Amino acid sequence: MLLRTIRTVLVFTLLCGLAPLAGAKTFITIGSGSTTGLYYPTAVGIAKIVNESGIPVRANARSTGASVYNCRAIGQGQLQMGIAQNNIAYYAYNGKGVQAFEGKPIGKLRGLAVLYPETIQILARKGQGIESVADLKGKRVYVGDIGSGTEQDVKHLLAVYGLSFDDLKAPVRGSAGNAVGLLRDGRIDAMFYTVGLGASAITEAAQTAPIDLVAIPQAKIDELHKKYAFYTAVTIPSGTYPGIDHDVSAVTLKATLVASADLPEDVVYQFMNTVFNKHLQSFYNDIQNPNLKKFFTVKSALDGMPIPLHPGAVKFFRQQGVTVPDDLMPPAS
Ligand code: GLU
Repeated sequence: MLLRTIRTVLVFTLLCGLAPLAGAKTFITIGSGSTTGLYYPTAVGIAKIVNESGIPVRANARSTGASVYNCRAIGQGQLQMGIAQNNIAYYAYNGKGVQAFEGKPIGKLRGLAVLYPETIQILARKGQGIESVADLKGKRVYVGDIGSGTEQDVKHLLAVYGLSFDDLKAPVRGSAGNAVGLLRDGRIDAMFYTVGLGASAITEAAQTAPIDLVAIPQAKIDELHKKYAFYTAVTIPSGTYPGIDHDVSAVTLKATLVASADLPEDVVYQFMNTVFNKHLQSFYNDIQNPNLKKFFTVKSALDGMPIPLHPGAVKFFRQQGVTVPDDLMPPAS
């Protein structure tokens, strides 16, 4: 009798102990960007795929200032994942290149996948005499959100023209959505936005404000690339935005999904296998970002990866037959 009672108690204790474990979920908040950019719909779409897949991960997307903010917040444990430009992720991990990271490397930042190319897009109100970046001198210019990668790109690009924020009449910051309103109302003359082609902010600006896209000549792109290798040349094809019927020579870099080294290997592996393998068709077709379908492949997801991978990502890529180069192996902890 006594033995039976002990056994019952033991089994009961075991079951109680295991039940919460079996249902344990890892919560992941993915940092994105402005709601009118492409990081936000991408993060929302990824979270939806994860939550509907049945894996023990609960994901949600947060609108943020974008790349710089996301890397910092991962370092501080406020976000577990985020999307960041590959140059910004590099600066964050190495603690240089951006004031916010100078001497404060984010050692726990890890790469998951390079997602798609982004382009530095420069919108200028017609009739203001802005034909080149050099003409922005003395103008009111939106330079990106606080914590954005855009702001850093603008600094780099202006420097190639011998300009800095001090040469602008006013460097304006805030969300890209608000900037479109300012551009439409003539309260700013130009707007920079490093974002994938087709972002709603730029489509809306092209539809509602008298704007054109400003080109960057090849010689300036070469100069920029020499100083900062992440930037390369691209053409914004005619017709990408309503009313802009000419090709525009521009600068591109890559949007990268990053994560905290604090996430367990198995969680990251399951996350990646869900989003980039089992539900790859939803990733392509259901997320409101046309660049994913156009550019993302598992095979090319390490091209341009600026920081070491998370161990869960290493496992995923190897299983997919993708060779992981030595310099992308996670540092020994
Ligand atoms: N590349 C932008 C940045 O980090 C964000 C673009 C987006 O939200 O799609 O500033």
